[in-house]
Amino acid sequence: MKLLELNNVSIDYKTIEGNIRAVDKICLSIEDGEILGLVGESGCGKTTLIKSIIGLLPQNGTVAEGEIFFENENLLKLTKDEMRKKRWKDISMITQSAMNSLNPVYKISWQIVEAIQAHKEISKEDAYKRAEELFELVGLEKGRLNDYPHQYSGGMKQRAIIAMALALNPKIIIADEPTTALDVIVQSQILERINKLLENYQGSMILVTHDMSVIAQTCTKVAVMYGGKIVEYGEVNQVFKEPNHPYTMGLKNAFPSLVGEKNDLISIPGIPPNLLNEIKGCRFKDRCPFSIEKCSQENPKKTNIEEGFFYCHREEEREKLRVLASKQET
Ligand code: ATP
Repeated sequence: MKLLELNNVSIDYKTIEGNIRAVDKICLSIEDGEILGLVGESGCGKTTLIKSIIGLLPQNGTVAEGEIFFENENLLKLTKDEMRKKRWKDISMITQSAMNSLNPVYKISWQIVEAIQAHKEISKEDAYKRAEELFELVGLEKGRLNDYPHQYSGGMKQRAIIAMALALNPKIIIADEPTTALDVIVQSQILERINKLLENYQGSMILVTHDMSVIAQTCTKVAVMYGGKIVEYGEVNQVFKEPNHPYTMGLKNAFPSLVGEKNDLISIPGIPPNLLNEIKGCRFKDRCPFSIEKCSQENPKKTNIEEGFFYCHREEEREKLRVLASKQET
């Protein structure tokens, strides 16, 4: 069943230099049990998009148009209080900065138990047991529950935050680079454990990352963002095997081995477009090795494919472009 649906969502930031359209007419949906990867280089609008879902855009940010349905209810119509009730219980978020949200004056155990009890009728003992289970899940020793945050390393704090986010079996977890503070092996272990837990109760996740190999290991679907738009979406295996958008082809090249050594996404030459200016035509045209005149003049139309879509003027030639892209030096 459809759990979350974004319809034509655009998000603007007001700045002294003018209006930034950070997210432009995005449509996306997530089913129960689906793990969606959201990938793209810095500044393409990933964080803005997910913050709009959870109702935590910064003050100068607004959803300028569109609808965000969660279980058929438009989240944008909820009051702050109604949204607060959904957060954590139904929609839970893990971010890098969440580490700083641990209160330094209380023991971690107290913070988790308190948070569980605030959302659920449960005894202190049972909430504590749940905290122990969660600690085991994220690879922390139960005994460390009674430490204060300053006794934890950055990686341990990150694990504790992940444990808290999972505490109430949320219907969807929105995770923004949740494991980057951890080393690669621990990172994949934790993602695997989160996946298993979600599988048990058909929970969903949106996983935001710069890292294509994390997506390949963790996700069922992937949405590739560029310049405030989703340029390609589909089944992970399909998108990685046969990318249809030249930007995705470039990302794939930037990760020559999806499980081995990796380069940085920056290896696609050029920089993303400035979102302060209105952009005519395809947003990737200035960096695209295959761009033609039409790309500067018209917005590419959506091409639907099985289980996905992409936007490119040269959709008919995609097989040829794929071969050319795989030979390109990045
Ligand atoms: P990163 O991976 O670095 O977190 P991102 O893909 O999540 O990047 P966003 O942080 O959503 O991208 O930023 C999208 C665009 O919106 C960028 O041009 C950014 O400069 C702009 N932006 C983000 N937050 C604000 C803000 N509070 N005020 C003004 N502009 C902002």
